[in-house]
Order: sequence, then structure tokens, then C-alpha cells
Amino acid sequence: MTHSERSIKTQSLQNQDGQDLRSQNVQLKAQFNRLLSNAHENQHKLKRFEEIEFKLMAAESIEELLSIIGDEYAQLFRLDACSLLLEDQDMSLRRLIPQALQDTQEGSFLTLLNFPVELEKLKYLPTQITTGIYHIAKHQWLMDNSRIESIAVMPLVRRGKTMGVFCCGSYDRDRFQAHAACDFLQRLSFIMAVCIENALNLERLKLSTMTDALTQVHNRRFFDQRLPEELARSERSLKAVSCLFLDIDHFKSVNDTYGHGVGDDVLCQVAQRIQTVLRTHDVLARYGGEEFAVLLPDTDNDEAMVVAQRIIMAVNKNRIVIGKKLILTVTLSAGVSTLMVDDAVAGSFHSAFGDIEQLGMKLLSTADKALYDAKEQGRNRAINAGLLALIDTVEVPQELNL
Ligand code: GH3
Ligand code: MG
Ligand code: MG
Repeated sequence: MTHSERSIKTQSLQNQDGQDLRSQNVQLKAQFNRLLSNAHENQHKLKRFEEIEFKLMAAESIEELLSIIGDEYAQLFRLDACSLLLEDQDMSLRRLIPQALQDTQEGSFLTLLNFPVELEKLKYLPTQITTGIYHIAKHQWLMDNSRIESIAVMPLVRRGKTMGVFCCGSYDRDRFQAHAACDFLQRLSFIMAVCIENALNLERLKLSTMTDALTQVHNRRFFDQRLPEELARSERSLKAVSCLFLDIDHFKSVNDTYGHGVGDDVLCQVAQRIQTVLRTHDVLARYGGEEFAVLLPDTDNDEAMVVAQRIIMAVNKNRIVIGKKLILTVTLSAGVSTLMVDDAVAGSFHSAFGDIEQLGMKLLSTADKALYDAKEQGRNRAINAGLLALIDTVEVPQELNL
């Protein structure tokens, strides 16, 4: 081989090496760019997860927490559907979570589980997150939406027990692929479980300070707080609101004859009987010793009288059984008052009725006066004070006759 032939060969080998290096370089660059874009995407994702996690941790009530999980989370991560199921075997969550959030319609966000079959399914759910294709037979109880194609099922576990499950659904079959990396979701489900547990405990605490320890119905503090809230609601909705004041007849003689323990039992049973007559959104409170107050939203005066009669019947129809030997006949008396808000009053509500707190007191004291009449007229009856008078200034009632 001549010198020039050798140098051409060397040159072509060098060219070949250069090309290989360049193509390697291009590949490495593409790989680097992919990694960089993945890192950016993950960083972005992490930021969004952190954002939602901080919000969850800052929520001040179960209502706020559920709205973050149900609305903001779904929006932020562009989910087509999400659902939250919570174990509620003893039906206690129904008292802690606002009624409006316990929508029982199909496809609703929150479901409280208390049927044995569902509780059993929850118990045997894998404790790790699972993702994959939505199968109606397997997933319908978790998310009832036939358009969902893929689903992420995130169990909410606290101290080794599954307290609920949060599910994210997508119309895209590839969104939640089987065995996808779920580190962020795993972390989120842990934080969600802690936040839900804390929020429920807080609601339990709030409720305990608003619950009468003997009868387990609400106490006076709760009633006094709800009264102006309900009046404000009736102002907005232009619906009547009624109030009942109830007092057990001759209760002192029960104590005097059979002792305080029996008196306590009677109080509890009477409270239960009153509760059974009421709707879930009516408010029953033990207002004083043997006195109960009831707030009936969206109830006009005639309907309120019907409820009062039903309560009287529920108490006196069947005798109260204490232990094995004692059977008592107990009666109670009721006073009824109603606030009617109509178009004429709407918009000038405050000039018509004055301060809403005072108005609440007026509604209650009017029912209390009617109760006094019921006692005067022989007890075991309801007396109707009718509609609250529409007056310019509401006089501040004197001490309630309690
Ligand atoms: P009236 O028909 O006029 O209402 O007569 P009454 O005997 O029911 O009314 P009174 O106000 O004279 O007596 C109420 C009694 O309720 C007196 C009080 O000892 C009793 N009481 C109040 N709180 C409790 C309680 O928590 N447990 C028991 N056992 N008794 C209570
Ligand atoms: Mg009394
Ligand atoms: Mg009494």
C-alpha cells in the first residue's frame, strides 16, 4: 500500500469514528433531554402535590377538607371523577359531616359505608395503591361511573386499619396504567388519611361540647348558635321556620317518687322519642332540666303544630318502661311559634325584624309563652302562638321563663 493510500484509509477510519461519536453524542443528548424533561415534569408534579398537601393540612373543618379533596384536587390534576368512601360502621360520621355533603345520589363524591358487605370489601382492599383499567364488576362500588376507563384506588390507612378509600378516575385508558409508579399518590393518600382523621376528631370534639351528656341530644349552646344561622337561611330561601318549646309535665314528682336515677332514664327516653319524630335537619336540644327546644327549618305554622302533636303522641302513647318493674305514663306540653318570611319582608328583613340574634330570642320566647299557656290549660297539649308579629323594632325579651 502506498503512503497516499494509507493516509486515505486512516482518514476514512477517522471519519467513521467521528460519525459514531457524533451519533453517540446525539443519542446521549436526546437521553439527557428526556431525563431533564422528566425531572422538570416530576418537579412540576411534586409542586402541585405539595400545593394540595399544604391545603389539606391547613383545612380548618371537615367541610373544607372534603371540598379540597373533591373539587380542588380533581381540578388541579384534571381528573374526570373522584370518589371518597369512609368507613362508618357505627353511623357516627353521619353526625359529624354536614348533611349537604352526604348526598346519597348515584355518582356522588362522598359515600359513608355501613353495610356489612361494603365494610367487608373495604377490609380486604389491598393496603397499597393500585392502578389500572376500570372494571365495572370490580370497581363500581368504589366509583359508579360507566365512562371511566382507568382508575387509581388509594386506600386510606391509619394504624394498620383501612378507614376509607380515595379513588381517581379518568376517561383516558392510559391515564392510570397498571403498575405505574405511585410514589406521589402513596404519599398523598397517607397525608389525606391523617388529615381526615384529624378533622373528624376535631368535629367530634366540637360536637361533644355541643352535646348534652345525659340525653346525647344537642345542648343549649348548640341550639343558641344554630338559631340565628337558621333564621338567616330562611331569610335567604324565603321559607318559614318554626320553633317548639317542650316541657315534661310534673317531672318533679317523678324524681320525688322514684328518685333521680329514674328521672334521668325518663329524660333519655323522652329525648329519644322526640328525636324519632323529627327529620334529620331539624334541631333538637335539651334546653334546660326537663325542657327541650326544637327548631324546624322550612316548616310553616300548620306543619309545626302537626309535629308538636306527633311529639306529644310519641311521648304519651306508650308508657315508659324503666328496668324490669317500673312502667310510667309521661306527658309533655308544647308551645309553637313560627317566623314567616315572604317577598314583602325579603330585602328589608332587618328593618322589619331588627337584629337576627334578637329575632331568634323572640321566636323562642314566643314559643315559651305558648308553652306556659299549655301548662295553664291542663298540660299534655300544644298551644300555638302563631306567626311572629312583623314589627319595626324587636324588643329585647326579658329573661326567658326557664
Ligand atoms: P310542670 O308540669 O309545671 O313542668 O312541672 P314540673 O314538675 O315538670 O316542673 P318543675 O320545674 O317544678 O320541676 C322540674 C324538675 O326537673 C325539677 C328538677 O329536679 C328536675 N330536673 C332537672 N334536671 C334534671 C336532671 O338532669 N335529672 C333529673 N332526674 N331531674 C332533673
Ligand atoms: Mg320546666
Ligand atoms: Mg316540667
